[in-house]
Amino acid sequence: MNANSPSTHLRRCVQLAREAFEAGNPPFGSVLVSSDDRVLFEDRNRAADTGDPTRHPEFEIARWAATNLTADERAAATVFTSGEHCPMCAAAHGWVGLGRIVYCSSSQQLRSWQSELGVPAGPVAALPIQDLIPGTVVEGPVAEFAAEIRELHKRYQSWLASSNSP
Ligand SMILES: [Zn+2]
Repeated sequence: MNANSPSTHLRRCVQLAREAFEAGNPPFGSVLVSSDDRVLFEDRNRAADTGDPTRHPEFEIARWAATNLTADERAAATVFTSGEHCPMCAAAHGWVGLGRIVYCSSSQQLRSWQSELGVPAGPVAALPIQDLIPGTVVEGPVAEFAAEIRELHKRYQSWLASSNSP
């Protein structure tokens, strides 16, 4: 059997992002994959589920990896994710010494989509991963997922606006 292609893992990330949205959370999902292409851990955003805005899947991956993998295994692993790591998650990724990152859409894309929707900037700057952890190999954005992720964020913002109205 052929190894999973990167787009198989990215497809799973988008599915997890959709599950996050369907449960009322910001639409983000991530998958941790070993050097021999096994899925080790996956998660989605749980900010609304838990009331903790730091419950990003990339942060959960870093913590899981610190507990469950050796330093060599972490360095050889790849984190696939629906959206580029925020600075908090990029820093966690760097501190635990994880390997390559592949993301579907960039923070810059997300910010521009949010601006189009009139969403104000969040409390944390949307810095590129490379500015925070310059030693990490980073790939993205991947164009084939852009429209779908944009649509998910648009639906999430509309849902937020309607659920916050009196
Ligand atoms: Zn994050």
